[in-house]
Amino acid sequence: MPTAFITGITGQDGAYLSRFLLHKGYRVIGLMRRSASSDVVGERLRWLGVVDHVELVDGNLTDITSLIRILEQYRPEEIYNLAAQSFVAASWQQPLLTGNVTGIGCVNLLEAVRIVLPSARFYQASSSEMFGKIQAERQSETTPFYPRSPYAAAKLYAHWMTVNYRESFGLHASSGILFNHESPLRGIEFVTRKVTDGVARIKLGLATELALGNMNAQRDWGHAADYVEAMWRMLQQDAADDYVIATGRTVPIHEFCRLAFAHAGLDYKDHVVSRQDLHRPAEVDVLLGDAAKAHRQLGWQAGVALEQLVAEMVEADLARYQKKLQHG
Ligand code: NDP
Ligand code: GDP
Repeated sequence: MPTAFITGITGQDGAYLSRFLLHKGYRVIGLMRRSASSDVVGERLRWLGVVDHVELVDGNLTDITSLIRILEQYRPEEIYNLAAQSFVAASWQQPLLTGNVTGIGCVNLLEAVRIVLPSARFYQASSSEMFGKIQAERQSETTPFYPRSPYAAAKLYAHWMTVNYRESFGLHASSGILFNHESPLRGIEFVTRKVTDGVARIKLGLATELALGNMNAQRDWGHAADYVEAMWRMLQQDAADDYVIATGRTVPIHEFCRLAFAHAGLDYKDHVVSRQDLHRPAEVDVLLGDAAKAHRQLGWQAGVALEQLVAEMVEADLARYQKKLQHG
């Protein structure tokens, strides 16, 4: 049975990747940072029914000694670095923490791999945010980067260090440049989940209004369950490489709102307001990915349409609130 080590296992992608790898017969080890609320951090793994099937070990991406000890003990064949301060908006308030975790954290893990287990295969969770102020209408592996936030700059450093460790030390290190991907397990501060949570509260009479920032930004949204499969496929290749993972369709925030409210029989124009204080200091106006290389080399393509994703997320949030209301 192969062993996989996942940092960020308690996050959205960590949960879906765990379920995917468990189905494939992997032993799954996950890095969990100590928290005073450790009873709730496994919530996403619990939601997918896998919390009792993964092994959670204490450590932190910012503490290389914890990473070295874990690699020495478990000797995983595959390592997925999903941990990050992943929220763009927070990165302007905490630029140094974002740099430490999202940027240097990746290098801590690359160094630990280089020292302890250079034969392991490594995946870095890179981001379409690195394209930022886009330099081509559709962004592919060859499109120049232009990061527009401390988060994106930290991710770009981690991306290039992954490429450098591959080229300098021969590590099997791949970078997946993933466009936005969502699910019912998406963090509530991200716009899609904020919207579907808002739809549920408004539908059930718990709220009347939803305040958002820039409604005109456009994103290429896929489903997290599809995207974690692409991560795994990258590590099954003979040679490590970089891949864009995207749907190839981009939609403005207001259209996402329209779809989500309509799914609950509501008109978003009656409820959504755009507030200036929720706009960002610098915006990534539009992202649209070209995943032709992943299709060609990995045999991967997005499976879930946006309408399906929206429906699943709205239904899940309605069910969450209905359960809360029933149990007081
Ligand atoms: P989440 O924010 O849901 O999960 C982030 C994970 O990182 C959590 O498990 C969190 O732990 C963990 N973490 C944060 N800081 C540390 C630390 N110092 N040490 C150890 N673990 C830490 O992100 P997603 O699952 O959505 O995304 C996974 C990765 O992919 C991230 O790196 C993200 O930046 C990147 N990405 C995501 C995209 C998306 O659309 N979802 C698009 C492109 C890239 P805790 O639960 O304790 O907070
Ligand atoms: P990102 O692409 O990783 O930054 O993912 P987000 O879901 O956080 O943001 C996607 C887009 O939605 C960005 O262009 C935001 O400016 C825009 N947006 C508009 N209103 C909001 C809001 O209230 N919250 C968030 N998170 N984003 C918003």
